[in-house]
Amino acid sequence: MKKGQLYINGQFREGADKQHLEVINPYDLEPIGSQSVAEGSDVRQAVSCAAESFKRWKKQSAYERGALLRKLYDLVLENEERLAKMITLEQGKPLSEAIGEVRYAASYLSWYAEEGIRIKGDILEPTHKTMRMQVIKQPVGPVGIITPWNFPLAMFVRKMAPALAAGCTVIIKPAEQTPLTAYEFFRLVDEAGFPDGVCQLVTGDPVEIGKIFMEAESLRKISFTGSTEVGKLLMAQSAETVKKVSLELGGHAPLIVFADADLDKAVQGTIDSKFRNCGQVCIATNRVLVEKSILPAYQEKLLEKVASLKAGSGFEENDMGPVIDRQGYEKISEHVDDALNRGANLLFGGQGYRQKDNQGGYLFQPTVLGNISEDMKIMQEETFGPVVPITAFETEEEALRIANQTPFGLASYFYTENISRAIRVSEGLEFGMVGINTGRISSAQAPFGGVKASGFGREGGYYGIEEYLHTKYIGTGI
Ligand code: NAP
Repeated sequence: MKKGQLYINGQFREGADKQHLEVINPYDLEPIGSQSVAEGSDVRQAVSCAAESFKRWKKQSAYERGALLRKLYDLVLENEERLAKMITLEQGKPLSEAIGEVRYAASYLSWYAEEGIRIKGDILEPTHKTMRMQVIKQPVGPVGIITPWNFPLAMFVRKMAPALAAGCTVIIKPAEQTPLTAYEFFRLVDEAGFPDGVCQLVTGDPVEIGKIFMEAESLRKISFTGSTEVGKLLMAQSAETVKKVSLELGGHAPLIVFADADLDKAVQGTIDSKFRNCGQVCIATNRVLVEKSILPAYQEKLLEKVASLKAGSGFEENDMGPVIDRQGYEKISEHVDDALNRGANLLFGGQGYRQKDNQGGYLFQPTVLGNISEDMKIMQEETFGPVVPITAFETEEEALRIANQTPFGLASYFYTENISRAIRVSEGLEFGMVGINTGRISSAQAPFGGVKASGFGREGGYYGIEEYLHTKYIGTGI
């Protein structure tokens, strides 16, 4: 049984009350270990250590900070199998996907090890000869990072790498379902030799930790990934201390297939963007819009591929693991049932089931629904499961109207071989990210983030480091 601990001021330790949280395997619901729970006093200590260490960390050169990030990158790759196994154990995704997540997370460490040295300011042309005008960038200060369970490693590494490169110190609070991956990662943080208090890990009551983070004057930024509901709450709480906030929230991605698309590519893109991590991905396709004239051909090709997908243990040869928990499973079932009750056609799957004589974790068959209409829940909310709802459209305008008919605006995808349409539609989609003829868009150099109820702020590339810097103007009379 793995026993994870907190990491505060360069020390692994238990929480003040010596409480532990049990961590379970979502595939068989068996316990796999426990994680120390931080009490309020532990979290406050982490906050004050982050503020203390910030005074020194910000003065290190970007080259020194980059060298530590590079060392951590090397350690993560050397330990990728150990980290990936822990991801599969506590989150459930297939091991090959977990290895992909570790490499993806590592790519942010490597990118920001180099991006930190490219932070730059400006010299402005002064208004008067007796003046000099300079603009510099400085780290915003200590940062609180709160992340969800669907990518137990990548979600916080994508935030901490640019924060550390910019000169900020960080306190990470991972999700309660997946704290042990964070603990395993922090063993590598410790080995890399970051100064005490620069990177810290706290786990425990989310409401209490969130409140302490938001009330702390010294924490100058909160970077959150998770549900829109919690994101709104944190945004409201941030007003008291006027903190900088980044919010990566829920999505509801459309995938549009125009009649002039390469159908094989469109089908593969649907599989890639829908079934990874059992559909529990914020940029997963949640609505498929197909031009009426090619609907039968698209459906036939898609069903052929979907029929070969298997759900099961992430440690065996399967394409999908379990759904994270009962709540997630019930939401998927509710979306499928609601669609079927309102006239959808079940083209494939549709069933959820449990492991081990109806006592183990929750699996859901890859599912395809046809004849979908806009009034169905699945067309309005994020499903976070392996369900493809297909609706037909007749014109480009209609496709854009349906795609944009949502408060969310994270990722979107479309397939066409027509260059003019590609430009028109990519400009017309009201989303932070657009994939044209591809279902895989995320990478370390690109800005990841949403608009509208999907939040604000960007992760990746030079856009990502800007989130952890503020701009200072220095006017000098000479
Ligand atoms: P969630 O309930 O909002 O939880 C996310 C994190 O917030 C967890 O660490 C959770 O802690 C913590 N939390 C919960 N209540 C809190 C509070 N009152 N104050 C402070 N922190 C609090 O999200 P989820 O349902 O687990 O995650 C799935 C959602 O994340 C989906 O909507 C998905 O689209 C979104 N997501 C977005 C992105 C993106 O980049 N835009 C990426 C991945 C996922 P506990 O675990 O301890 O409850």
